[in-house]
Amino acid sequence: MPELPEVETIASQLRGRGVEGKIILSVKINWAPTIEPYSAAQFSKAVKGTTIHEVSRVGKWMMFSLSSGQTLMVHLRMAGSFAMEKGSHDRIVMKLSDELTLYYRDTRKFGRWKLVDDPQVILSKLGPDALTRQFTLKYFSAAMKKRHRMIKPLILDQGIVAGLGNIYADEALWESMIHPERLSDTLTDAELGNLFKAIKQVLKTGVKNRGTSLGDGKTNYRQVDGESGDHRAQVKAYGRSGKPCKRCESILEKTVVAQRGTTFCSACQPRLEQ
Ligand SMILES: [Zn+2]
Repeated sequence: MPELPEVETIASQLRGRGVEGKIILSVKINWAPTIEPYSAAQFSKAVKGTTIHEVSRVGKWMMFSLSSGQTLMVHLRMAGSFAMEKGSHDRIVMKLSDELTLYYRDTRKFGRWKLVDDPQVILSKLGPDALTRQFTLKYFSAAMKKRHRMIKPLILDQGIVAGLGNIYADEALWESMIHPERLSDTLTDAELGNLFKAIKQVLKTGVKNRGTSLGDGKTNYRQVDGESGDHRAQVKAYGRSGKPCKRCESILEKTVVAQRGTTFCSACQPRLEQ
């Protein structure tokens, strides 16, 4: 599932391929439920002839600012991706000026395109993006201390901090040696500081490695050129249950926390009495 590093990789590769500044010449929609809230015909009419001013990202959302003043907000959900060459499962095809074509590919069909007049409709519901200056230790500590919830679902809550999903949440908790079920208001200042640093670090490393691809299935994350991300070899916890911990060599355990599969090291990340 694409998280901040994967979405950032796709957005920056689309910029690198010259999508910014191009005019949308035509839109072909092969799977209409992707589009919200417009019908396929209304959507095509609204975006045709507009110029894509900017391709950016906030949290796990991609944003295409259009010359019409509207913004196309794209959430890739489970398996959405963009490509510049034709492939299978292309749900939306946009022909752009200068003979470029943008293919939106989505095997699982969960991804959504929302055309909005004001991106704040969506952005105002998000906490600060994890890799921006707005996401500070002071903010993070206060947000954790005023709640009494398990730490893993809290850092996955996009309304608190935007960008983390299951992979990088498990990685950040492993790095900071915090049990995923610890209650947020029991964490010490030192633990909160370590977790805050780990969140920034695992996401930055993920971006540097152009995202994480796990497994070889067709639903897996792909970069714009169809290549897998390079971050898989760096993963310390996620998807490694049954394998030795890279810090202490204990066998990593898998459990379910708030309905999400969770891998952790019970030796390095002790539960502690609460
Ligand atoms: Zn360990």
